[in-house]
Amino acid sequence: MNVLPLLPDETIYSFLARLRVYSGSYNHRSASLLWFEQYGLSLDQKLATHLAYFSAQTNFPVEQLLNEHTYYPLFSLAGHEPKKLKKVMLTGPSYRLGNYAKISQSGLKALSKDKYCLSCIEADKEKYGVAYWHLSHQFTGIQSCHIHNTLLICTPPSSRVYSLPPQAISSSDAPASDLQRFFTSYVLEVNESAKSQKRNDLLLDKNNLNALVRQKGFMSNDSISMQCLIAAISNITVRLFNNDVFTEHVVRNLIRKPYYACHPLKLILFRFALEQLPDIAAQEHLQLLKPIDKDKKREKQCLLLLQGGELNFTEIARRISCSIGYVIKLAKQENIAYLKRTQFISADTEKRILMRLVKGDARDVIAREEQVSVSSVEKICGEHYQLSEWRQYLRALGKRDKYRIEMRSVLKKHSFSTRAEIKTMYPACYMWLYKYDTQWLYLHLPPASYRSK
Ligand SMILES: [Zn+2]
Repeated sequence: MNVLPLLPDETIYSFLARLRVYSGSYNHRSASLLWFEQYGLSLDQKLATHLAYFSAQTNFPVEQLLNEHTYYPLFSLAGHEPKKLKKVMLTGPSYRLGNYAKISQSGLKALSKDKYCLSCIEADKEKYGVAYWHLSHQFTGIQSCHIHNTLLICTPPSSRVYSLPPQAISSSDAPASDLQRFFTSYVLEVNESAKSQKRNDLLLDKNNLNALVRQKGFMSNDSISMQCLIAAISNITVRLFNNDVFTEHVVRNLIRKPYYACHPLKLILFRFALEQLPDIAAQEHLQLLKPIDKDKKREKQCLLLLQGGELNFTEIARRISCSIGYVIKLAKQENIAYLKRTQFISADTEKRILMRLVKGDARDVIAREEQVSVSSVEKICGEHYQLSEWRQYLRALGKRDKYRIEMRSVLKKHSFSTRAEIKTMYPACYMWLYKYDTQWLYLHLPPASYRSK
């Protein structure tokens, strides 16, 4: 049959939508009968079924369809029966797809919309005369266009009525965040590599994950500090999706079972989030956390009071104006005995408080919402190894993002100013970045000018 070409990075669904528009003569139900031998077939943008029949009708090779126009490579990594998945994608029945591809997970519904990029729409119309659905935009959790680095627009999927994205647009693009951009390229890279490599070779197996968990400081001896790990992973996930994806059950399985079958988003996101965290080595030497003279002086004062043994921790904290957690940490470090807290806090509450501390929530907010005292929260914080350093690090990251955004808009606004002028106009922002984020700052500032006398 003489058909249209499949466009680069186009989904099968999109191709059907175009066929329908161009032919103008048949509705979507008969279109699916004609091309898939199925009346009213439901088509997912990421995967498709009955591709063997479709391939025979169109002369597109089956392997090309699977690898270039669906996410078969990625989904074949995450399930434990890639051969069965392939068979379903070739010959159906489509109700089995959810089973082998693990796509029918209600928790991920909000992330599985049909998506398009406004700049791609313009570019595609220019080049091909039509705006179409790109496969690279459709994977669950992808929120940015890898070509334009813009935020994608979401629409509810209509899997039985094959329709194209809007052909005329009136709004303009918004830029995606760094984290969203990193995640998009990460997913697309794994999908690309999955065409030729297995799950183990892609560092997604148990041994490699364990090594990574250790490298990031969540494993001492052979036990994993699961609560900290889950909270840290959730923190990245929430920053990415405003929504958590992982349960403790899933994280445990991902770490312990070499071929745990789950939605590929979880498999990839888990590793992605781990990689975003600083290495334990970097955590210790982090520039942001180096004690400055003021801190050393405070430490000395605090130690003196502790060794004096006359004051309780609350009083010491008040006198040198630091948190109780800080006093406890120092006491532990110096092996100074102290009384455990007296307010009764159930194990559940403590676990919740711990999670929120790791996520970086403010201590007084946690105390208010969990109905405990601020000092109880601080005590829990002080009792966990490196937790307060971790929180400092999170705060520093937040500050860094804020100043980077500010500096970006400053540089846009004053594109003809010199470094010195920018420093004079925005001293706080400039100095913070200069001190803690030097590389980034110099990469973005206008080139230094060397004037002769
Ligand atoms: Zn784009």
